[in-house]
Amino acid sequence: MKKIIVIPGDGIGQEITASAVKVLKQVDAKFNIGLEYDYRDAGGTSYEKFGTPLTDEALDACKKADGVLFGAVGGKKWDSLPVNLRPERAIFGLRKGLGLFANLRPTKVYPELVNSSPLKPELVAGSDLLIVRELVGGIYFGKRCESEFVDGVEQAWDTEIYSVPEIERITKLAFETAKVRRGKVTSVDKANVLAASRLWRKVVVDVAKDFSDVELNHLYVDNAAMQLVLNPKQFDVIVTNNIFGDILSDEAAVIGGSIGLMPSASIGELTSLYEPIHGSAPDIAGKGIANPMGTILSAAMLLRYSLKLEDAARAIESAVEKTLADGWRTADIFTDGFKRVGTDEVTEIIYKNL
Ligand code: NAD
Repeated sequence: MKKIIVIPGDGIGQEITASAVKVLKQVDAKFNIGLEYDYRDAGGTSYEKFGTPLTDEALDACKKADGVLFGAVGGKKWDSLPVNLRPERAIFGLRKGLGLFANLRPTKVYPELVNSSPLKPELVAGSDLLIVRELVGGIYFGKRCESEFVDGVEQAWDTEIYSVPEIERITKLAFETAKVRRGKVTSVDKANVLAASRLWRKVVVDVAKDFSDVELNHLYVDNAAMQLVLNPKQFDVIVTNNIFGDILSDEAAVIGGSIGLMPSASIGELTSLYEPIHGSAPDIAGKGIANPMGTILSAAMLLRYSLKLEDAARAIESAVEKTLADGWRTADIFTDGFKRVGTDEVTEIIYKNL
């Protein structure tokens, strides 16, 4: 049996994880995988029950699992809590506790949704890229000073710091991922200015020697930001550090048209975690109109990356693609001429398409 911990979390997290589990159960029956589900709380839901956004017991259960399916956390009700009790702390606790060192965010422009993209259809049609972001190092975790005075002038500073093993680990993952995609890695850095970027580039070049079947090129981050909107089709896998990945992955996300559609994987040393890129969407929670596709596609990533079940992952992705091709749309991606459906209806359609 393969154990999956399901953490619905808050807001629409409850609705969309229910959809993803329904779809996973159907894939399990079809491919005879043997999935077992165990539920845990996180975020505001956990705070209400246990007085903390993430219990040690929930984290331990995740460590022992084969994969974690996460909905979303957060909501106005908990916004005034002290920082260490706020729902979002659950995400940091899971990142740290599970050693989630890489974030994988695919951006795929579905032919049926090409007009939902803010970019011109001819530019984005056929785009299918994956950003591999380093998640536990760099400037977000380097030494910092909030305030100091030099010659009577206040200043603050942060440090961009990377070690060779940290860069090797993320680069290997990017190359291995590219091997099962279209065989191209673009490494993004700022090696013309930053020392940490120069080390980054040197290590990437070294790692590439073990992957002769994967093409490598380098872009400075300012150029990469431009290229993403000028010609996103040129990219297959982009590998980059924590801060550049944070910014570029949000830029890439809008190319697809709706955040409700976007999945992600955070790859860990112990267990990996899969979640849609959006939040708990309190404005639509409980209304039955949330788009569950991002979470369903995150479940497909769980099958691909944690369980190495490519066929089962593709089956889910094809079922979502067919649902879109047949004209079914949740409110966030609905335009005139299509068929409007709610969370449960669209889940049922994807389920039947499997
Ligand atoms: P959000 O992503 O929750 O929502 C932004 C907008 O997108 C809203 O209008 C929402 O209705 C819409 N939307 C999001 N997901 C959708 C879906 N699946 N289907 C249809 N529409 C969808 O971002 P926000 O409003 O800035 O944040 C709300 C809460 O979520 C906050 O408490 C925030 O801290 C939290 N948050 C959590 C995560 C996470 O759990 N990983 C990520 C981002 C934000």
